[in-house]
Amino acid sequence: MRYEDPVFRPPCEAGSLIIQATLGCPHNRCTFCSMYKMKKYRVREVEDIKADLRQARKLYGSIESIFLADGNTVAMNCNKLAEIIEYARYIFPEAKRVSSYGGARFLKGKSPEGLARLKEAGLDIIYFGLESGDDEVLMSVQKGVDSEGMIEAARRVKKAGIALSVYILLGLGGEDHWRQHAENTARVLNAMNPDFIRPRTLYLMPGCPLHEDAQSGLFREASGETIMRELEVLLAGLRVGDCLFMSDHISNYIPVYGQLPQDRERMLASVRMALENPEEYLGPRYLTHL
Ligand code: SF4
Repeated sequence: MRYEDPVFRPPCEAGSLIIQATLGCPHNRCTFCSMYKMKKYRVREVEDIKADLRQARKLYGSIESIFLADGNTVAMNCNKLAEIIEYARYIFPEAKRVSSYGGARFLKGKSPEGLARLKEAGLDIIYFGLESGDDEVLMSVQKGVDSEGMIEAARRVKKAGIALSVYILLGLGGEDHWRQHAENTARVLNAMNPDFIRPRTLYLMPGCPLHEDAQSGLFREASGETIMRELEVLLAGLRVGDCLFMSDHISNYIPVYGQLPQDRERMLASVRMALENPEEYLGPRYLTHL
């Protein structure tokens, strides 16, 4: 198997076969992200990807699911990506799921036919980085898309019948913009009505521009208590239906899981318990392995 480091995947894809269809991220400008800063984005040759899939079959036998890396695989031409997905399905007919990351900047440019083609080929789920629904925050972190663009892209994914899993980034508004970050993120999520909402909590790695801003005092990082207040406002504002809320990431202070809308009060109670016991739940995080 040929991998070009570093390789990232969602925590829930830990058991999946990872195939790099693209390398790096075609945007690579978000100021909070250090994931692919050392990689130049490129699309791998379809024949090389197919060869990896055949080799994986020999090495691993059967597999449960397939994750197509790297950072924004949906930026690929739809026909090429559909060819890869169809081939993956042919080599691994037992696979229960094929998934990839997909950002709004690239999904916005996909036609309904292109997305339908990906669904038909066997793409089940797209992990979508919303991060924030607040336009001021989105612009300041150079996400490259405003909240309307986010909503439009998400609706296209859902319309194609592909499951939508949305990542949001608690703490991205810092101490100064946390409330508008939370309120507008709830607003945008309500308009998207995703299948999954997956919060992560900002953890700045040296080398990313927002880390430098935090060091110089330009960006005031949110405290654990502020993050919990943000989560409280967010959960209280969500009006999505039939959506799983899953804080399945090591960066989060507390695990908050539930089905929306019915588990909202239980999840809010967990958040309030953390706010009442900050010494127990909101201490410093040492995520050096991130
Ligand atoms: S957050 Fe996503 S879109 Fe932004 S630079 Fe990182 S991988 Fe690319």
